[in-house]
Amino acid sequence: MSSQLAEKIRELKAERNAVILAHNYQPGEVQDIADFTGDSLALSVRAAQTDADVIVFCGVRFMAETAAILSPGKIVLLPDKNAGCPLADMITAGQLKDLKQKHTGAVVVCYVNSSAEVKAESDYCCTSSNAVEIVESLPRDVEIIFVPDQHLGQFVSERTGRKMILWPGYCITHAAITEDDIKNARAAHPDAIVMAHPECTEPVKVLSDQILSTGQMLKFARQSEAKKFIVATETGIIHTLKKENPGKEFFAASSRAVCPNMKRITLEKVLWSLEDMHYKITVPEEIRTRAKNALDRMVAVLPAK
Ligand code: SF4
Repeated sequence: MSSQLAEKIRELKAERNAVILAHNYQPGEVQDIADFTGDSLALSVRAAQTDADVIVFCGVRFMAETAAILSPGKIVLLPDKNAGCPLADMITAGQLKDLKQKHTGAVVVCYVNSSAEVKAESDYCCTSSNAVEIVESLPRDVEIIFVPDQHLGQFVSERTGRKMILWPGYCITHAAITEDDIKNARAAHPDAIVMAHPECTEPVKVLSDQILSTGQMLKFARQSEAKKFIVATETGIIHTLKKENPGKEFFAASSRAVCPNMKRITLEKVLWSLEDMHYKITVPEEIRTRAKNALDRMVAVLPAK
């Protein structure tokens, strides 16, 4: 059944001159039919570079919006219109404006997991791969507002030695991974390396060996001599890790680390999305150009990793 669906998707994709992009947290079968898999920014950069007329973004809304910000001439489709990101929804543009008023002159760095409106109110965008470098590039004497993820912000603050004004947002999926999960996983696999995403809570990160973005996890696992890894992030990445490293073993730190929004996308929805050309994600031009400035400033500091 899924091979028939995959075949129909391939036919329609050619007919529409479409490209399918899938985030590393997507269900394995969706990752398998994608032209490219990766983290949110790598996928958006791919989106901007492609000759395709249509981009089917298998991920959540802010990712499709980022693709639309970077690729205004293309049609960007999100196969499930309700695939949002609770972390991105934890701050509105109005709340960020209020914060800026309280800290006049502060530089605003926003994590890519944010709405287009929040990006438009920010000076720099960042990803979990390059947040440390972006903050390090800022003059030492400026105040920095970091939104919306407090755990990534706190990690960046420690790595850079910069005190930052943090917004109390967090990812519910990463927050589901507990200290006990790491201790239990270590007890079950004592010779494994623990890789944790910076969106995890501080106690989880303290117990981990490596703190890495999804892109960095994939690279680390490829290059490491180790044979076993405990993975403290959304479990979807284990599909790619296993595919890329057949001789190595990967264990989810917690079976609860499943993002319900990422898992809204199915092969059927990808097919319907191409059949009916829905759901189109657009960003009003005035917001798009300002949000693009924050993304462009990030790319000017360093290319996406
Ligand atoms: S894993 Fe967390 S940050 Fe990523 S889309 Fe899901 S809720 Fe948002």
